[in-house]
Parts: sequence; C-alpha cells; structure tokens
Amino acid sequence: MHKITLIPGDGIGPEISEAMRRVVDSTGIKINWEVQHAGADVMSEYGTPLPDHVLESIRKNKIAIKGPITTPVGSGFRSVNVALRKELDLYACLRPCFSLKGVKSRYSDIDLVIVRENTEDLYAGNERMIDDDTAESIKRITRKASERIANFAFKYAIAENRKKVTAVHKANIMKCSDGLFLESARNVAKNYPQIEFEDRIVDNMCMQLVQYPEKYDVMVLPNLYGDIVSDLCAGLIGGLGIAPGANIGDEIALFEPTHGSAPRYAGQNKVNPTALILSSVLMLKHIGEKEAAEKVLNATAAVVEEGINVTYDLGGNAGTSQMADAIIEKIQNLG
Ligand code: NAD
Repeated sequence: MHKITLIPGDGIGPEISEAMRRVVDSTGIKINWEVQHAGADVMSEYGTPLPDHVLESIRKNKIAIKGPITTPVGSGFRSVNVALRKELDLYACLRPCFSLKGVKSRYSDIDLVIVRENTEDLYAGNERMIDDDTAESIKRITRKASERIANFAFKYAIAENRKKVTAVHKANIMKCSDGLFLESARNVAKNYPQIEFEDRIVDNMCMQLVQYPEKYDVMVLPNLYGDIVSDLCAGLIGGLGIAPGANIGDEIALFEPTHGSAPRYAGQNKVNPTALILSSVLMLKHIGEKEAAEKVLNATAAVVEEGINVTYDLGGNAGTSQMADAIIEKIQNLG
C-alpha cells in the first residue's frame, strides 16, 4: 500500500484530480490517498494558503500529486506552487514533452525533456519598490543550485537513454548570473562524456524549438526560462492539456501538470485531465509501479488517438469525467 498526499488544488484542479485518482485506482494498485487542501480556499480557516499540516503530510509520505493552485496577479499571497517547491527543496522540475498520436498539432514527432531549476532565479520573488515609480527584482543564481540541476539533467539523460543536454541561458547579457549558470553546466558536463553537451541563448532556443525541435533532446534551464520554454514546448505537442510534470528533490517528489488552474473553465467538467493523468504516470514510475504506469500511459494514448472520448482542446465533445471513464475502460480491457 502506497500512501500519497493528494492536493486537489483550485479552479479546474478538483475535477482533473478526481479523474486522475479514478484512473490510477482502476489499475488495481493500492494507494491510500491523503487529501490535503491548499490555496485561497483555506486562507480564512488557517490564515495561510499553505498550512503546515499540508507540508507535514508531504514530508511524511515523500510522494505527492497536485492539481494547479491559483496565484493572485500583482498583489495578494505568494505562489503556493513556488512555496511548495522551495519549502520541500524540490529543486528539479522535470517536464517531458512528447507527441501523442491523434493530437492535431503542426508537429508530430516531438520528444523533448525540460529540466528546470526550481528554487532560485527571478522566481524567488525577491523584489521591492525603490520608489513609487521604480521596481526592482533580484536575480540570484548560485553555483550550488546550478551544478545540482545540471547533474540532475545529465543523470536523467543517462537513465533514460538520452543523447544530448542543452543548457539554455542569456549569458551574453547577464554575464554574471546566467554566466555562472552556464559555467556550472559546462563544468558538470565534463563528468558525463558519454552525453553530448551544448548551450543555446534562450531567445535563439525558442526559435530553434519552433523551427527544428528534432535537433533537441534534454534541455536544462534556470527557473524563469524553464517556465516559459515549458509552455512553448507544450504548444509544440498540442497544448497544455497534455503536458505533464514533476518536481523532484533528493527525498520528496511532487507531481503536477505544467498548466495552471484555468479559472474560466472551473466546475464545467470541460478541461482535459490528460496532463495530470500523465503526471501520475511519472509518479507511478517513480514509486516503482512500472506496470501500472504503462497501463495508464497506453490507455490514455489509445483514447487520445481514437479521438472520440476526448475533451474540447483535442477536438472532441467529452467532458473531463467522460474522458477519464474511457481511459478506465481501456485499462480494464488491457487487463
Ligand atoms: P493556465 O495554464 O491555467 O491556462 C491557460 C489556458 O490553457 C486556459 O485558458 C486553457 O485554454 C488552457 N488549458 C490549461 N489547462 C488546460 C486543460 N487541462 N485542458 C484544456 N485546456 C487547458 O494559465 P493561466 O490562465 O495563465 O493561469 C491561471 C492560474 O493558474 C494563475 O493563477 C496561475 O498563477 C496559476 N498557475 C498555477 C500553476 C500550478 O499550480 N503549478 C501553474 C501555472 C499557473
């Protein structure tokens, strides 16, 4: 029996979390889901969007999966998602981006992996108003975090039989901060001679990914570029509805889709549960449930390829729960 913390999140989070949970349970593996709530809805009760007991549950179980949580824009509380990654030192954000057959996209054979540094950079939100008309945000990059994420990218490349790691930066302009990130990646690369290494300036990387995605394999990026390039890569495979992810630390892993809480679709049983379901595939692999992971992956890919019981973003009319039902039926048929 696995004990896993499940944070449904808000917006579309609860619907896709329920779909994911039903799909995973249908594989027959035994999971005790410890449901914990975070975000704006718990503010009035606990005075914080991320109560200590939520962190404690994840620290105890070591494995968590979550739906997206809304972050107020401009003012209000800081991102719960970023806080979770920092508090639990989930330093590596892993986002595999691969084409699924049957999805309408300009590209058909995308197979890219984003490894995003998760703990520092402008994402730390270290900013202030200097005066009424001047704002400042501090970009802090450390050798320790840069080497750690580069090592993660190379180890991942070896474990997954990948060929190349590309470090992405803007070291021509931010010679200090991005320069340190690049220098760290270059130094780490020397320890992995079996994996090809190169670097790209982030703007060029974006153009290259749109024009020649087949030239790239694993990319390692500082936090903010990783965030932006993740959505670009989701666009290459047909949208955020099918882009999974994981936040991984030395002891704890937290799985979540690349997309956010899409508030305007909340409660409509409309959005695609695939990104969270594919995040659960990463989770099942991580906890050693390889057979269940394969079942969920194959069943999801089959439903997407058939294109009948799929959500609006994939050209269908099915709701979130109907798509989950179709995936469960496939899992049962797969035996
Ligand atoms: P979003 O990812 O929530 O949605 C952007 C658009 O992508 C949606 O309007 C929709 O068209 C599409 N989309 C997203 N998920 C989909 C799905 N499962 N199926 C089909 N289509 C889908 O981005 P946003 O609107 O910029 O952000 C909304 C909120 O989510 C913000 O508060 C943001 O801070 C938060 N957010 C949270 C996380 C997280 O929890 N890790 C990540 C990103 C954004």
